[in-house]
Amino acid sequence: MHELSIAQNIIDIVQENLAPDQKQVVKTVRVKVGKLTNILVDSLLFGFEALTRETNLDGVTLEVEQLPLRIKCDDCGQETDLDDYVFSCPVCHSSAIKVISGQELLVQEIELND
Ligand SMILES: [Zn+2]
Repeated sequence: MHELSIAQNIIDIVQENLAPDQKQVVKTVRVKVGKLTNILVDSLLFGFEALTRETNLDGVTLEVEQLPLRIKCDDCGQETDLDDYVFSCPVCHSSAIKVISGQELLVQEIELND
């Protein structure tokens, strides 16, 4: 399961960003995932919960925001958000397009309890 290793990645990033005295106080972790990563959000949440159980991150909420697939056309310069993998420009129908977002996975915020 691809989501399990991604959940582990997120946990590693969180742990690296915590000072030793912050280890017990994480409340929420917010991540952004691009549509092209093909991550199943439910599986990611499940993996995160399973991997953090009985660790210092037990009970932490993982919030996942999905980023759209965004392309830019080399011919007319139009940028478009796509719901499906239709790899041509919706304006001029050129196939000279670049994916400019949708492949990212980033930990955006680590929220701590007061
Ligand atoms: Zn175009």
